[in-house]
Amino acid sequence: MESGTSSSGKKAMVENLKRYGVISSKRVAQVMEALDRGLFVPVGSSAYVDSPVPIGYNATISAPHMHATCLQLLEDKLQPGMRALDVGSGTGYLTGCFALMVGAEGRVVGVDHIPELVDMSIKNIEKSVAASLLKNGSLSLHVGDGRKGWQEFAPYDAIHVGAAASEIPQPLLDQLKPGGRMVIPLGTYFQELKVIDKNRDGSIKVHTETSVRYVPLTSRDEQIGGF
Ligand code: SAH
Repeated sequence: MESGTSSSGKKAMVENLKRYGVISSKRVAQVMEALDRGLFVPVGSSAYVDSPVPIGYNATISAPHMHATCLQLLEDKLQPGMRALDVGSGTGYLTGCFALMVGAEGRVVGVDHIPELVDMSIKNIEKSVAASLLKNGSLSLHVGDGRKGWQEFAPYDAIHVGAAASEIPQPLLDQLKPGGRMVIPLGTYFQELKVIDKNRDGSIKVHTETSVRYVPLTSRDEQIGGF
């Protein structure tokens, strides 16, 4: 039995995000309704309210409005057949949304440096509508230092970073395809969500989307020290 999942709950979650103007894209609404957040949060926590939820190891699953915002910012680069990298994949929720959007012909890679979270994210995906994409190899989740990206399937049309860096890691810029887009929170205490477009000639254009509060993109020891 999947405790804590509810089809009316996830429908209401998406309806609220639409009502408050966070979701304007039909594809994003569809994918967030299809992938049940209730399968990705720890049992006993509220899956469908618009707030982050602790997942252990000093990490959180981001709030639904942040997932929706990032999906919309990356939507054009998450077309069927495209490639995406999710750094700091945590529960695997957003990674699973990416996989549903690019489909079986696409390639999505999630990287997190906490092995227990990667194991958990694989189990979460296996219970979800994205399970077949994990099985056929168009979605994979790996243990690694996401600041190095994941060279194997580069270059990526879309790169999402789910933890805040003090500066943009160079390997991630290198692994972004010309014409591709990266969404990354930057800063320490005061953080801003940056949108980075790599032009066809390889030059970079950056704009600030909004102020945010993410856990840091750091080393494993820094993150779980004292845990
Ligand atoms: N986007 C995910 C998790 C966000 S929390 C979700 O919504 O479920 C940020 C995640 O980044 C945590 O899981 C943390 O372990 C991971 N993280 C932090 N620094 C990292 C690094 N250097 N390499 C890989 N993962 C990292």
